[in-house]
Amino acid sequence: MKNTLSIIKPDATKRNLVDQINKLITTKDLKIVAQKRIKLEPDEAKAFYIVHKDKPFFNDLIKYMTSNEIVVQVLEGVNAIEDYRKIMGATNPEKAEDGTIRKNFAINIQENSVHGSDSEENAKIEIDFFFKNNEVS
Ligand code: UDP
Ligand code: MG
Repeated sequence: MKNTLSIIKPDATKRNLVDQINKLITTKDLKIVAQKRIKLEPDEAKAFYIVHKDKPFFNDLIKYMTSNEIVVQVLEGVNAIEDYRKIMGATNPEKAEDGTIRKNFAINIQENSVHGSDSEENAKIEIDFFFKNNEVS
């Protein structure tokens, strides 16, 4: 089994989409093994998205990620990382496939409803960023 980090982002928590998104997550081979609703401080958002610090969208991304609560989750599955990226859909919702979370719910390339780790290495780092070992079953 592998774990991946999921975030239900501010645009989605604002619109009360958590249950609908969780339904799309759990129809496949993924199980939610940890979940909490938190509000990120700007410094935490900056640390989480440090790889994007030189991108033109960085400052707006930090404002957006701190604009409302987020739901952070650990998902478990045989191919958790790849499976969740597929269920999420492309970063730009205009390019996302039908049935994906981003196709269904994202507003635009920034307010795109969910985050998912992109590699096993990053999944470990990102899960440790938000969860203590004893919070993940
Ligand atoms: N983002 C943005 N503008 C862009 C590209 C990305 O605001 O042109 C935001 C968007 O919320 C995205 C996040 O930055 O989900 C991280 O970007 P990444 O390229 O890692 O996309 P992801 O892995 O989330 O699909
Ligand atoms: Mg990414």
